[in-house]
Amino acid sequence: MRSAIVFVDCQRDFMDKSGKLYVPGAEKIIENLLNLATHIRATRHWTVDHHANDDPEFATYPPHCIIGTEGAEIIPEVHPCMSREFIINNTDIISKNNDVVFRKNTVSVFDNGDVGEYVHFYDNVFVCGVVTEICVKAMLDGLLDMGHKPFLIVDACRSLWDEESQELRDFIGAYALAGVKIIDTESALFIAENTK
Ligand SMILES: [Zn+2]
Repeated sequence: MRSAIVFVDCQRDFMDKSGKLYVPGAEKIIENLLNLATHIRATRHWTVDHHANDDPEFATYPPHCIIGTEGAEIIPEVHPCMSREFIINNTDIISKNNDVVFRKNTVSVFDNGDVGEYVHFYDNVFVCGVVTEICVKAMLDGLLDMGHKPFLIVDACRSLWDEESQELRDFIGAYALAGVKIIDTESALFIAENTK
């Protein structure tokens, strides 16, 4: 069984308190993200928001993750090797470290045709990152559309809703019904270890 993990938008503008679109409480998942990035036996995929100065998305959201800015970097606490230079200059999307980066300038990374071809190879696809009900949701939707039954690592995701809110419970319940397997970080590490 081949496993892949997708880290959705773990970038400074979303996860640093000073970020342009800071997700409150995002720092609480850093330890789990780091644990996954360091120990999971799965190919690491990173989606990154990647916007031009005048990106049409800024009609909907305030400007964020602008190409060449610090805010567009993956937070160093999770991936110290993933430098800004790499994110910006990487043209073949595969790094020396065997990480795969998918840039996107919309909510769904599936708007970038490459993603389907990559995740297609994997039996287990784990998903974590921010924001649960926006870009993580788009990742899950894309995988479900492809016929995958992805794993959602709930304690390595952060929502704009309160952790204990009914909205978040309903969201997770709906995706569980749709076939998404809801797990925590410890289980993800165990599953990836034992299905290799
Ligand atoms: Zn964006």
